[in-house]
Amino acid sequence: MAVENACLRCGAFFEKGSNYCTKCGAPVVNRCTDPGDLLNDPCGHICGFQDAFCSKCGSETTFKRAGLIRSPWKENKVLYQNKLDDMKWLLHPFFTKW
Ligand SMILES: [Zn+2]
Ligand SMILES: [Zn+2]
Repeated sequence: MAVENACLRCGAFFEKGSNYCTKCGAPVVNRCTDPGDLLNDPCGHICGFQDAFCSKCGSETTFKRAGLIRSPWKENKVLYQNKLDDMKWLLHPFFTKW
């Protein structure tokens, strides 16, 4: 079982508050990689130690991108965002005032 304060790649222990392993340079904080865009801020969610994808927005995590966690599945975020856009469309005042 993986230990939460040991580097996933080399197993070296790291101090709380570190961003990268000092032995091998691997990221030790599993952050969402969503960069944001013109309308949205970057997600920045700190994901679970073994998550390959962000639970908030569905982007890859830094661990997945660095190859520390493998997943046979691809990022599915586009589909999810389309679904959200459909919902927003239903909340348009044109529909809610009836
Ligand atoms: Zn390491
Ligand atoms: Zn995210």
